[in-house]
Amino acid sequence: MVKCRLLENGSRRFSPTIRGTVLLAMVCIAGRYAGADEPTSFHMPDYGGMTPPPARSMDDVDAALKGEDPTPKSDEVLKVLLVAGPKDHNLGEHDYPAWLKVWSKLLAKAPRTEVATAWLFPTPEEADAADVIVFYQKGDWNDARAELIDRFLAHGGGLVYIHWAVNGNEQPEQFAKRIGLASKAGAVGYRHGELNIDFTPASDHPVARNFAGVEWRDETYWRLRGDATQIDLLGTSREEGEDTPQFWTYQPGKGRVFVSIPGHYMWTFDDPMFRLLLMRGIAWSGGHNVDRFNDLILLDARVE
Ligand SMILES: [Zn+2]
Repeated sequence: MVKCRLLENGSRRFSPTIRGTVLLAMVCIAGRYAGADEPTSFHMPDYGGMTPPPARSMDDVDAALKGEDPTPKSDEVLKVLLVAGPKDHNLGEHDYPAWLKVWSKLLAKAPRTEVATAWLFPTPEEADAADVIVFYQKGDWNDARAELIDRFLAHGGGLVYIHWAVNGNEQPEQFAKRIGLASKAGAVGYRHGELNIDFTPASDHPVARNFAGVEWRDETYWRLRGDATQIDLLGTSREEGEDTPQFWTYQPGKGRVFVSIPGHYMWTFDDPMFRLLLMRGIAWSGGHNVDRFNDLILLDARVE
């Protein structure tokens, strides 16, 4: 327990030596669970035996955090609803249930933050109680989903979609009207491996502040459906000779949407740069300060 407490208090404000101690302890307990449902670490529990990419450099993280001001815009609580679904793909990939367990604990550590969870798709009551809904699951689209999402957006709600959550099955155009771009089952382009995301299109967007080029080992999608002229492009990847959208925001009416196509491998969620971007996206979608989650990005993260 002492170790866990040390890790949870780990902060970038510690000296490099203390950071090193924290990291060493982190490696020792990464993925260990106290029970089936209670993660004691904010590290994803299973990489499926695959070798993760090198840990992120602390210099990169410090550069991305430059100019941070976590002063809240108000005392308002941010209510976040995380939505997952049954795991698909291989071990260490698309582990939505593990993400739900770990990230519901992680986000709840931020001040003035309430986190709830839902499975597959929220009920109207669950959606009504949320400021931001974050989907990490295999997506789908139908009339019932449209009704709830349209109502949520009309009230100024925030939506975040990670990776395959942008799947619109046979109705990608309808889905894209709500989130900017969406994928059609079987028609999407995809590539696993080294990604080099170019954030220069978003130099003045608060979500991508200080991001220029970031490398991840994850998955890109392209050949998405929808009108790409309507999104605020944050980051692109060069695929088949074109700069394809991988991160974007979209503002349908009063609502706010943030989308991350990467999110295939579980190690990506342990990368402080990915956490920073995703957490900024969650905060921005809810109309809050994008720096409100900064103290969470290093907890049990892969950084050196
Ligand atoms: Zn994937």
